[in-house]
Amino acid sequence: MSLSVAIIGSGPSGMYVADRLAKKAPDATIDIIDRLPTPFGLVRAGVAPDHQGTKKVTNQYEKLLSQPNVRYLGNVEVDRDITLAELKFSYDAVVIAAGAQIDRKLGIKGEELRGVYGSGAFVGWYNGHPDHRDLDPVQHHIRSAVVIGNGNVSIDISRVLVKDPGEMTESDLCRHARDAIHGAQVETVYLVGRRGPIEASFTPPELRELGKLDSAVPVIENTTLPETLPNWVNTNIPEGRVRAKNLEILRSFQELEATSATKKIHLVFQANPVEFLGNEQGEVRAVRFEKTSIDDDGNAIGTGEFFDIPADLVVTAIGYRSSPLTGITFDEKRGIYPNEEGHIEDNVYVVGWGKRGPSGTIPTNRPDSFQVADRILADIGNGGEKPGPEALNRLLIERGTQVTTFADWQTIDGLEADRATAPAPREKFTRVEEMLNALPR
Ligand code: NAP
Repeated sequence: MSLSVAIIGSGPSGMYVADRLAKKAPDATIDIIDRLPTPFGLVRAGVAPDHQGTKKVTNQYEKLLSQPNVRYLGNVEVDRDITLAELKFSYDAVVIAAGAQIDRKLGIKGEELRGVYGSGAFVGWYNGHPDHRDLDPVQHHIRSAVVIGNGNVSIDISRVLVKDPGEMTESDLCRHARDAIHGAQVETVYLVGRRGPIEASFTPPELRELGKLDSAVPVIENTTLPETLPNWVNTNIPEGRVRAKNLEILRSFQELEATSATKKIHLVFQANPVEFLGNEQGEVRAVRFEKTSIDDDGNAIGTGEFFDIPADLVVTAIGYRSSPLTGITFDEKRGIYPNEEGHIEDNVYVVGWGKRGPSGTIPTNRPDSFQVADRILADIGNGGEKPGPEALNRLLIERGTQVTTFADWQTIDGLEADRATAPAPREKFTRVEEMLNALPR
């Protein structure tokens, strides 16, 4: 019998592990399971709607899904339609590639106020993820939005909030979010990091975009940019060069003509959120920050000096956690599956953010998933002993699960393109029932 592998999750890390296995073990049967009817995980629901170039990576994934030995099984959820134990029993190897979908919490007072959202939920909402379709986070005019965190997700959110409608016409920002965000006419975004400009985890292309918006400009607040890089930044390695480039871009922002812009993105550094302040209706009104200094190890240390920023909307973009699946060890503290080079236990492996935590861009997953695929082949070999697809098919038929196939995705894809107003590439279906009802029975 040939090797059979079930992959849970059809985002980049899952697709790359499938790609490697399909190349190195051409006889293997590979089943990619996703709880949504539509594939591609973070590419569809996480990548910013105005970054269509990044989303083109799905062309490669589609080629893979059209191979005869690779199946897509959408609308199949582990722990709802099937258990991990059943997959372990049915397949030679099971790979968890389910990402990290839970927003990390700051754990400070007022985080439960209306108007405070995690970035996973907020981005999921504007990107049409069915889980967050009804979040409704933008209901009225927004004078001041606060985005907490200094990573690329915080940049994406800030940019989407201030871009003019005309700048989003080629995006796939969903209609409900488009109407809400553009209706809110956001005036000001405060993009706040607890550490300094050198410590920020932005990458240069994303940071640079903030300086190229039609009617919004970045304004550097409450900090003097350093004249030189600190000694710990080593420009001989890529990470050091990124920090140097970021500083150069931040300097260039100082030359932008802020007065002519109708909207501003205030970049606030060295400010640690300590409390969300609300009104009697339980709505957020402001965020209290403590100013920080940065110690020799790069940590943010509170100075005992506090200040408030008004907020009609707050999004915390401070990272994510994976969610545990029944029957497998999970590190609650780190929010990942403990693993040794991707191997968790028995015939179960993990890739992507569930393996290493929520870091890295789409291409980071390629070598990482390849390494785990190689490990699977080294551990198990090319041959298999388990029934694989047959067993899964039987269980899903027994349970009456309406599985979506790759052909179904192509139908949905075509319908979404048809619903869009050019030059937008698609108008997404944002509810599972809508997607399923759109398919021929
Ligand atoms: P990230 O890059 O890890 O940034 C998280 C930010 O949250 C950091 O600034 C961190 O500050 C801050 N933070 C964490 N805990 C905090 C706390 N308790 N209080 C205040 N601030 C806190 O994560 P991300 O922005 O979610 O992005 C995830 C990954 O996806 C990254 O690798 C990112 O580059 C990638 N991504 C890439 C793109 C793109 O390529 N266009 C777009 C989006 C995301 P400290 O540094 O002080 O911990």
